[in-house]
Amino acid sequence: MFIKKKPETNRQKFDFEELDELYREVILAHYRNPQNRRQIEDADIRCEGFNPFCGDEVFIQLKLDEQEGVAEVGHQAQGCSICKASASMLTELLKGKTLEEAEALSRAFHRMMRGAPTSDEKANALGGLKAFQGVLKFPIRIQCALLPWAALESGLNEYRARIKDR
Ligand code: ZN
Repeated sequence: MFIKKKPETNRQKFDFEELDELYREVILAHYRNPQNRRQIEDADIRCEGFNPFCGDEVFIQLKLDEQEGVAEVGHQAQGCSICKASASMLTELLKGKTLEEAEALSRAFHRMMRGAPTSDEKANALGGLKAFQGVLKFPIRIQCALLPWAALESGLNEYRARIKDR
């Protein structure tokens, strides 16, 4: 008998069984146990992003130290598991980074999610984000993985524009 696969609908559950095991474990760990899921009231940088296609919504706050390093990161993510896992991983990776390092990481991740070849050195810097390579097989989910990083970039741009005007 021919069994028809159910068509994808918006804001649906991601079928983790379709991901390679290695990728699945990393992403699921963050989805089940999100890191830094809290609001930072006195944040220096506030980022938000919305993915209308999936219904994902992300808010990220960064508190900086005197050298413009990331002292604290908090996030609130709503939506699908891929987006939530990506936001959790972002907050973990950003702590202690300079803003330049954060941007470099974001660029490297965007490149990876476009399927561009990545040098070993850059791939290592991506850490757990490498797990999202498994999502490249599901083009509909790529934006979900990128949303927190796109939100970060626009938040950083806003911040830079703001301090320039001071
Ligand atoms: Zn999503």
